Amino acid sequence: MPSVRTVTGDVEASTLGITDSHDHVMIRNGLILIREPDFRLDNVEKSMQELRDFRSFGGRTMVDAAPIGVGRDPDSLRLISVETGVQIIAATGFHKTVYYLDSHWRFHYSVEEIGKLFIDEILLGMDQNGYDGPLVKRSLAKAGVIKIASDYQVIDRATCVAIEAAAIAHRATGAPILTHTEMGTMGLEQLRLLEAHGVPPESVILSHMDRNPDLFLHSEIARTGAFLEYDGPGRVKYYPESTLIGLIRGMFEAGVGGQILLGGDVARRSYWKSYGGGPGLAYCLEHFLPRLRREGLSAAEIDQIMIDNPARAFSFRRTAS
Ligand SMILES: [Zn+2]
Repeated sequence: MPSVRTVTGDVEASTLGITDSHDHVMIRNGLILIREPDFRLDNVEKSMQELRDFRSFGGRTMVDAAPIGVGRDPDSLRLISVETGVQIIAATGFHKTVYYLDSHWRFHYSVEEIGKLFIDEILLGMDQNGYDGPLVKRSLAKAGVIKIASDYQVIDRATCVAIEAAAIAHRATGAPILTHTEMGTMGLEQLRLLEAHGVPPESVILSHMDRNPDLFLHSEIARTGAFLEYDGPGRVKYYPESTLIGLIRGMFEAGVGGQILLGGDVARRSYWKSYGGGPGLAYCLEHFLPRLRREGLSAAEIDQIMIDNPARAFSFRRTAS
């Protein structure tokens, strides 16, 4: 039975249930909050409130996509998961280079050293301080996914190092890799680089691909076996939801509905009801899925996107060791 690593332990993939494949439960500190104060999600009570809401609409599992150095908080994720009953999959790895000072160790350690640090977060537990040092204080929560991120139309040198380190960690542990694409660009290029370092596309999830809602490109990517994560529900500042619905329908018509995942990526306090904003962490389940149904998607197709596909995507691949 394939298994998935959550912050409270390993579970069978078949038990994930309805899964939000890319979201944010806690963002506590870091340069990212100086650049964008609205990203600050540092109140455990409010996080619990949003997750309880998510659960009340049937949500069972959430992927917290914050990796090392961008405010990730392993101990709080574990506490919130226990208190709310929502399983959380957490990330090791890196975000975009722009979110790190040039003094950060990611720009100075070798690829092997970085790969080893990722491996230890998956096997032993995440460092509560993201290896900011001088002491390593491992949380009981282990990472269940490896994050990498590229920028708009470019994969810079430091990102290539991160990709290679992620591949080292994948080959050693079988952990899936969740990538950030900027405006849906460089997805195929990420896949090619990962493949060159021994990562099969079946273990890769490309996030935010719907920012470039290009059916031809998406079906081409899906045919490699990689997963595409869409997080457009409620984000109408980018495009109307009808665009996303058309894209999802098109993917099913192209025979690649088995490669789509849905997330909220509701990573701003102005998006959270508990901070007085909207549409809230439960929006996708509360409003978007019922609309998909009204627009003609079958219950089986929706279950595929929300349950079956995430169970495959977030499973650890068996490794030789
Ligand atoms: Zn995100």
